[in-house]
Amino acid sequence: MFIHKKELIHPVSVDNPDPRYGQYLLEQFGGATGELTAALQYFVESFHVTNSGIRDMLLDISTEELGHLEMVGRLIEIHTRADKDLKIKAEESSLFALRGRGPHFLDSLGSSWTASYINEGGDVVRDLRANIAAEAGALATYEQLIENSQDDGTKKALGHLATREVAHTQMFMEALQSLGKLTDPIFGELKPDDTVNVYYNMSSNGAADERGPWNSEPKFKYIADPLGQKSARGEGSEKLHGEKLARGQSSR
Ligand code: MN
Ligand code: MN
Repeated sequence: MFIHKKELIHPVSVDNPDPRYGQYLLEQFGGATGELTAALQYFVESFHVTNSGIRDMLLDISTEELGHLEMVGRLIEIHTRADKDLKIKAEESSLFALRGRGPHFLDSLGSSWTASYINEGGDVVRDLRANIAAEAGALATYEQLIENSQDDGTKKALGHLATREVAHTQMFMEALQSLGKLTDPIFGELKPDDTVNVYYNMSSNGAADERGPWNSEPKFKYIADPLGQKSARGEGSEKLHGEKLARGQSSR
Protein backbone atom coordinates (compact mmCIF):
# COMPACT_ATOMS: atom_id res chain seq x y z
CA MET A 1 0.00 0.00 0.00
CA PHE A 2 0.99 3.57 -0.29
CA ILE A 3 0.40 6.34 2.23
CA HIS A 4 1.02 9.89 1.14
CA LYS A 5 2.20 12.58 3.56
CA LYS A 6 1.56 16.19 2.60
CA GLU A 7 5.17 17.10 3.19
CA LEU A 8 8.10 17.09 0.80
CA ILE A 9 10.91 14.58 1.36
CA HIS A 10 13.31 17.56 1.29
CA PRO A 11 12.33 21.25 1.33
CA VAL A 12 12.41 23.29 -1.87
CA SER A 13 12.53 27.03 -2.30
CA VAL A 14 12.85 29.20 -5.39
CA ASP A 15 14.16 32.75 -5.15
CA ASN A 16 13.40 33.90 -8.70
CA PRO A 17 10.73 31.91 -10.56
CA ASP A 18 11.51 31.44 -14.25
CA PRO A 19 9.15 29.50 -16.55
CA ARG A 20 11.99 28.88 -19.02
CA TYR A 21 13.94 27.13 -16.31
CA GLY A 22 10.79 25.28 -15.26
CA GLN A 23 10.78 23.84 -18.76
CA TYR A 24 14.36 22.54 -18.30
CA LEU A 25 13.25 20.90 -15.06
CA LEU A 26 10.65 18.86 -16.95
CA GLU A 27 13.57 16.69 -18.03
CA GLN A 28 13.61 15.23 -14.51
CA PHE A 29 9.82 14.98 -14.26
CA GLY A 30 8.68 13.48 -17.57
CA GLY A 31 12.02 12.91 -19.30
CA ALA A 32 14.05 9.75 -19.92
CA THR A 33 16.42 10.28 -16.98
CA GLY A 34 13.70 11.60 -14.70
CA GLU A 35 12.34 10.57 -11.35
CA LEU A 36 9.22 8.88 -12.77
CA THR A 37 11.39 6.57 -14.86
CA ALA A 38 13.55 5.66 -11.85
CA ALA A 39 10.61 5.16 -9.48
CA LEU A 40 8.71 2.90 -11.88
CA GLN A 41 11.80 0.97 -13.00
CA TYR A 42 12.79 0.00 -9.46
CA PHE A 43 9.14 -0.64 -8.52
CA VAL A 44 8.52 -3.12 -11.33
CA GLU A 45 11.88 -4.81 -10.72
CA SER A 46 10.88 -5.47 -7.11
CA PHE A 47 8.29 -7.99 -8.32
CA HIS A 48 10.89 -10.01 -10.22
CA VAL A 49 13.63 -10.22 -7.61
CA THR A 50 13.66 -13.26 -5.34
CA ASN A 51 16.44 -11.99 -3.04
CA SER A 52 14.41 -10.46 -0.20
CA GLY A 53 17.09 -7.95 0.78
CA ILE A 54 17.44 -6.58 -2.73
CA ARG A 55 13.66 -6.48 -3.13
CA ASP A 56 13.37 -4.43 0.05
CA MET A 57 16.06 -2.03 -1.19
CA LEU A 58 14.33 -1.60 -4.57
CA LEU A 59 11.05 -0.71 -2.85
CA ASP A 60 12.76 1.74 -0.49
CA ILE A 61 14.58 3.50 -3.33
CA SER A 62 11.56 3.41 -5.66
CA THR A 63 9.47 5.12 -3.01
CA GLU A 64 12.19 7.71 -2.38
CA GLU A 65 12.23 8.45 -6.12
CA LEU A 66 8.50 9.19 -5.97
CA GLY A 67 9.38 11.71 -3.25
CA HIS A 68 11.95 13.19 -5.63
CA LEU A 69 9.33 13.35 -8.39
CA GLU A 70 7.16 15.35 -6.02
CA MET A 71 10.06 17.73 -5.27
CA VAL A 72 10.75 18.31 -8.97
CA GLY A 73 7.03 18.79 -9.56
CA ARG A 74 6.91 21.40 -6.81
CA LEU A 75 9.94 23.20 -8.25
CA ILE A 76 8.24 23.32 -11.66
CA GLU A 77 5.03 24.50 -10.05
CA ILE A 78 6.85 27.41 -8.36
CA HIS A 79 8.88 28.30 -11.46
CA THR A 80 5.65 28.56 -13.47
CA ARG A 81 3.61 30.37 -10.84
CA ALA A 82 2.54 33.71 -12.23
CA ASP A 83 2.04 36.40 -9.62
CA LYS A 84 0.19 39.22 -11.35
CA ASP A 85 -0.49 37.96 -14.83
CA LEU A 86 -2.14 34.56 -14.62
CA LYS A 87 -0.93 33.61 -18.08
CA ILE A 88 2.56 32.49 -19.02
CA LYS A 89 3.72 34.28 -22.14
CA ALA A 90 5.02 32.30 -25.09
CA GLU A 91 8.40 34.04 -24.88
CA GLU A 92 8.78 32.78 -21.31
CA SER A 93 8.00 29.20 -22.34
CA SER A 94 5.84 28.22 -25.27
CA LEU A 95 5.34 24.81 -23.65
CA PHE A 96 3.77 26.16 -20.44
CA ALA A 97 2.01 28.96 -22.30
CA LEU A 98 0.10 26.35 -24.29
CA ARG A 99 -0.12 23.47 -21.84
CA GLY A 100 -0.63 25.42 -18.63
CA ARG A 101 1.35 25.90 -15.46
CA GLY A 102 2.89 23.20 -13.30
CA PRO A 103 4.50 19.88 -14.22
CA HIS A 104 3.38 17.60 -17.04
CA PHE A 105 4.67 14.18 -18.02
CA LEU A 106 6.68 15.70 -20.84
CA ASP A 107 10.39 16.27 -21.23
CA SER A 108 12.00 19.68 -21.65
CA LEU A 109 11.18 19.69 -25.37
CA GLY A 110 7.60 18.53 -24.94
CA SER A 111 7.93 14.84 -25.81
CA SER A 112 5.63 12.57 -23.83
CA TRP A 113 7.05 10.28 -21.16
CA THR A 114 7.11 6.70 -22.36
CA ALA A 115 7.53 3.33 -20.63
CA SER A 116 10.26 2.53 -23.15
CA TYR A 117 12.55 4.72 -21.02
CA ILE A 118 12.43 1.88 -18.48
CA ASN A 119 15.16 -0.78 -18.70
CA GLU A 120 14.39 -3.92 -16.68
CA GLY A 121 13.73 -7.62 -16.71
CA GLY A 122 15.16 -11.08 -16.98
CA ASP A 123 17.79 -11.12 -14.28
CA VAL A 124 18.53 -9.20 -11.10
CA VAL A 125 22.09 -8.55 -12.32
CA ARG A 126 20.81 -6.92 -15.50
CA ASP A 127 18.33 -4.90 -13.42
CA LEU A 128 20.99 -3.65 -11.00
CA ARG A 129 23.31 -2.68 -13.87
CA ALA A 130 20.45 -0.89 -15.61
CA ASN A 131 19.79 0.94 -12.33
CA ILE A 132 23.40 2.13 -12.13
CA ALA A 133 23.02 3.44 -15.69
CA ALA A 134 19.71 5.10 -14.77
CA GLU A 135 21.34 6.84 -11.81
CA ALA A 136 24.22 7.99 -14.05
CA GLY A 137 21.71 9.49 -16.48
CA ALA A 138 19.87 11.26 -13.67
CA LEU A 139 23.13 12.57 -12.20
CA ALA A 140 24.31 13.88 -15.58
CA THR A 141 21.01 15.73 -16.08
CA TYR A 142 21.11 17.20 -12.56
CA GLU A 143 24.68 18.38 -13.13
CA GLN A 144 23.54 20.24 -16.26
CA LEU A 145 20.47 21.65 -14.53
CA ILE A 146 22.60 22.96 -11.64
CA GLU A 147 25.12 24.46 -14.06
CA ASN A 148 22.37 26.24 -15.96
CA SER A 149 20.55 27.62 -12.92
CA GLN A 150 20.96 31.16 -11.60
CA ASP A 151 18.72 30.47 -8.62
CA ASP A 152 20.30 29.55 -5.29
CA GLY A 153 17.18 27.91 -3.85
CA THR A 154 16.73 25.77 -6.94
CA LYS A 155 20.40 24.80 -6.97
CA LYS A 156 20.23 23.72 -3.34
CA ALA A 157 17.26 21.42 -3.96
CA LEU A 158 18.89 19.98 -7.08
CA GLY A 159 22.12 19.44 -5.17
CA HIS A 160 20.25 17.21 -2.73
CA LEU A 161 18.54 15.30 -5.56
CA ALA A 162 21.87 14.76 -7.31
CA THR A 163 23.48 13.62 -4.06
CA ARG A 164 20.81 10.99 -3.55
CA GLU A 165 21.47 9.60 -7.04
CA VAL A 166 25.08 9.13 -6.01
CA ALA A 167 23.91 7.35 -2.85
CA HIS A 168 21.63 5.07 -4.88
CA THR A 169 24.45 4.26 -7.29
CA GLN A 170 26.58 3.10 -4.37
CA MET A 171 23.72 0.99 -3.01
CA PHE A 172 23.17 -0.73 -6.37
CA MET A 173 26.91 -1.34 -6.67
CA GLU A 174 27.01 -2.91 -3.22
CA ALA A 175 24.02 -5.08 -4.11
CA LEU A 176 25.85 -6.30 -7.23
CA GLN A 177 28.94 -6.91 -5.11
CA SER A 178 26.87 -9.01 -2.69
CA LEU A 179 25.99 -11.23 -5.67
CA GLY A 180 29.64 -11.38 -6.78
CA LYS A 181 28.66 -9.57 -9.99
CA LEU A 182 30.13 -6.09 -9.65
CA THR A 183 33.14 -6.93 -11.81
CA ASP A 184 32.02 -10.21 -13.38
CA PRO A 185 30.04 -9.47 -16.54
CA ILE A 186 28.72 -13.00 -16.98
CA PHE A 187 25.50 -14.12 -15.38
CA GLY A 188 23.03 -16.77 -16.37
CA GLU A 189 24.10 -19.96 -18.10
CA LEU A 190 26.41 -18.64 -20.83
CA LYS A 191 29.57 -20.66 -21.47
CA PRO A 192 31.64 -18.09 -23.35
CA ASP A 193 33.67 -19.12 -26.38
CA ASP A 194 37.41 -18.48 -26.70
CA THR A 195 36.99 -14.87 -27.83
CA VAL A 196 35.88 -13.74 -24.40
CA ASN A 197 39.25 -12.09 -23.65
CA VAL A 198 40.19 -11.03 -27.20
CA TYR A 199 40.40 -7.35 -28.23
CA TYR A 200 40.13 -6.69 -31.97
CA ASN A 201 41.74 -3.47 -33.22
CA MET A 202 38.92 -2.91 -35.70
CA SER A 203 39.31 0.85 -36.16
CA SER A 204 42.68 1.87 -37.59
CA ASN A 205 44.22 3.87 -40.41
CA GLY A 206 47.15 6.17 -39.86
CA ALA A 207 46.47 7.53 -36.42
CA ALA A 208 48.06 5.66 -33.56
CA ASP A 209 45.93 3.06 -31.93
CA GLU A 210 45.32 3.79 -28.30
CA ARG A 211 46.22 1.23 -25.70
CA GLY A 212 44.92 0.94 -22.18
CA PRO A 213 43.83 -1.59 -19.60
CA TRP A 214 40.74 -2.26 -21.71
CA ASN A 215 42.83 -3.88 -24.44
CA SER A 216 46.00 -5.06 -22.70
CA GLU A 217 47.44 -8.08 -20.95
CA PRO A 218 46.78 -9.71 -18.63
CA LYS A 219 43.05 -9.30 -19.16
CA PHE A 220 43.00 -9.01 -22.93
CA LYS A 221 44.83 -10.44 -25.92
CA TYR A 222 45.30 -7.59 -28.40
CA ILE A 223 44.89 -8.43 -32.08
CA ALA A 224 46.57 -5.44 -33.76
CA ASP A 225 45.64 -6.36 -37.34
CA PRO A 226 42.65 -8.68 -37.50
CA LEU A 227 42.42 -8.53 -41.32
CA GLY A 228 46.17 -8.99 -41.88
CA GLN A 229 46.19 -12.05 -39.73
CA LYS A 230 43.12 -13.29 -41.46
CA SER A 231 44.59 -13.09 -45.00
CA ALA A 232 48.07 -14.25 -43.97
CA ARG A 233 46.69 -17.49 -42.68
CA GLY A 234 43.95 -17.88 -45.24
CA GLU A 235 41.70 -19.18 -42.53
CA GLY A 236 40.58 -15.90 -41.15
CA SER A 237 37.72 -16.91 -39.01
CA GLU A 238 39.88 -19.35 -37.12
CA LYS A 239 42.51 -16.70 -36.44
CA LEU A 240 40.01 -13.92 -35.88
CA HIS A 241 38.23 -15.92 -33.26
CA GLY A 242 40.88 -18.32 -32.11
CA GLU A 243 43.41 -16.36 -30.08
CA LYS A 244 43.74 -17.93 -26.70
CA LEU A 245 45.05 -16.32 -23.60
CA ALA A 246 47.54 -18.07 -21.41
CA ARG A 247 45.19 -17.41 -18.51
CA GLY A 248 42.54 -20.04 -18.96
CA GLN A 249 39.22 -18.58 -19.91
CA SER A 250 37.83 -22.04 -20.55
CA SER A 251 37.44 -22.61 -16.84
CA ARG A 252 34.17 -20.71 -16.75
MN1 MN B 1 15.97 10.58 -7.55
MN1 MN C 1 18.07 7.53 -7.67
